[in-house]
Amino acid sequence: MMAFLDESVPENETETRADDDDDANLCRGLQLQGSIDYVCTGPAAKDFGGLLQIRPLAVIRPAGPEDVARVIRAASRSANLTVAARGNGHSLNGQAMAERGLVIDMRAMDGLIQLFRIGASAYVDVGGGVLWEDLLKRCVLEFGLAPRSWTDYLALTVGGTLSNAGISGQAFRHGPQTSNVSELEVVTGKGDTLVCSETQNSELFFGVLGGLGQFGIITRARILLQTAPDMVRWIRVVYGEFEEYARDAEFLVSLPEGESFDFVEGFAFVNSNDPVNGWPSVPLRLDQGFDPSKIPRAAGPVLYCIEVALHYRNSDESSSTDKVVEEVLGQLRFCENVKFEVDVRYMEFLQRVKRAEQAAMANSSWDTPHPWLNLFVSKRHIVDFDRMVFKSILKDGIGGKMLVYPLRRSKWDDRTSVVLPAEGEIFYIVSLIRYNPPYPKGQPVERLIAQNHEIIQGCVTRSFDFKLYMPHYRTEEQWKQHFGKQWPAFLEKKGCFDPMAILAPGQRIFSRTH
Ligand code: FAD
Repeated sequence: MMAFLDESVPENETETRADDDDDANLCRGLQLQGSIDYVCTGPAAKDFGGLLQIRPLAVIRPAGPEDVARVIRAASRSANLTVAARGNGHSLNGQAMAERGLVIDMRAMDGLIQLFRIGASAYVDVGGGVLWEDLLKRCVLEFGLAPRSWTDYLALTVGGTLSNAGISGQAFRHGPQTSNVSELEVVTGKGDTLVCSETQNSELFFGVLGGLGQFGIITRARILLQTAPDMVRWIRVVYGEFEEYARDAEFLVSLPEGESFDFVEGFAFVNSNDPVNGWPSVPLRLDQGFDPSKIPRAAGPVLYCIEVALHYRNSDESSSTDKVVEEVLGQLRFCENVKFEVDVRYMEFLQRVKRAEQAAMANSSWDTPHPWLNLFVSKRHIVDFDRMVFKSILKDGIGGKMLVYPLRRSKWDDRTSVVLPAEGEIFYIVSLIRYNPPYPKGQPVERLIAQNHEIIQGCVTRSFDFKLYMPHYRTEEQWKQHFGKQWPAFLEKKGCFDPMAILAPGQRIFSRTH
């Protein structure tokens, strides 16, 4: 039976608009199985970026896809209402917010984690609002299986990362998370609930993957699984020169499966004893010291670290793991003896960023604004990018990781909405994961935003082949430029699946129409 749950209307609502009463009445008429909350000063008005505060009209906690469809159809009957799916609100620039619109809290929905086999392949059907960390635990502990492609941090939702790409050190082999999903259930901007895949409603399927929430809300995803290993050999090696680092990192991501590591990432760090940005940020265990005398004297202000991991099972001979590690590392040219190595359980490895989260919470930098910047830079310009950004603008560090590592275009499906640099098989992801203590202890956030602009402007001025990952622009012209030759197809899909531009208004690509 339908229930009308939890409809609390604030008593001291200020700044109302003429249409707000109509819209609130419209919401009251929704016969939801879940609930609506009109007190919107909580998490739905904020995100991890912490740069914006945007109040919605109401927050919906849907019980299932029917509720999501009902909300979208109701919005389409109003003059102005927009609808934003909110995963875990880990966006950086208000992408999951809706000013005076309806925010759908996807985490409230049933998680629906179910194993599914087609031939020899195993899949899991999972709700769009499930956190990857919960999916990991269920898959490994119940089935001995795990998704193949991850993000570094796992308190993100399945629908949230599939709307971007979902990248970590497995992407060089398996592609991003958007390359590891075979079917979606999506509620479109017209309120239709459709199942889509490569062969069924394929325009919607590929549109939604990396589609920044513009075409529909993912209520279920079918994700490809692999056998979960028991353990991981996790290794970091250090370089003084970017060219050598890049050559070795590109070599590692180009080796065939079975002859290399299962995870390849890397980062730049400061050549100093700064506890956060420098040498101490590299060892994997507290009892491993960093010996700077092993770094060549000619090294500049910034050093580089390749981070790799090899999966193995408890039943494997330890000599076979050692052999692969020795053979591959033997071909690299890192600084002699600047190598850190640990063996950890697979789940512990995938949850490694949890420790950084706990440290940031302890020093208050988890709750301060996070003006992060994520870019894809083509191989052709990465050496110049290093010179301009790591060796110059960011030579003192950013209070967190400065990721820079190669990915392979052939592992990405060019039918999805994700936008990559124009050229070449190899391109780099650059992630500036800034953690800044509250001002005045840390820098004013405006200065960090200005630094991001300086980096982007520098890339534009030097005509680098680059794209923003998790892009945020203000004008249609900028979005047009971002999508480049993909723009006409993106526009056409918008017209087809969300013609009134109801969905994901926080991306600021389209404006609501009547
Ligand atoms: P939200 O921020 O809530 O939503 C993001 C966008 O997707 C919004 O436009 C929203 O409307 C839309 N959306 C949400 N759910 C759905 C749905 N079910 N259907 C359709 N649209 C939806 N990214 C990586 O690729 N790799 C990383 O290693 C990585 N690490 C991160 C670490 C941290 C600490 C943080 C804060 C972010 C990280 N990210 C990483 C970025 C992350 O992938 C994006 O911020 C992602 O959008 C966050 O997911 P979320 O579930 O919080 O989504």
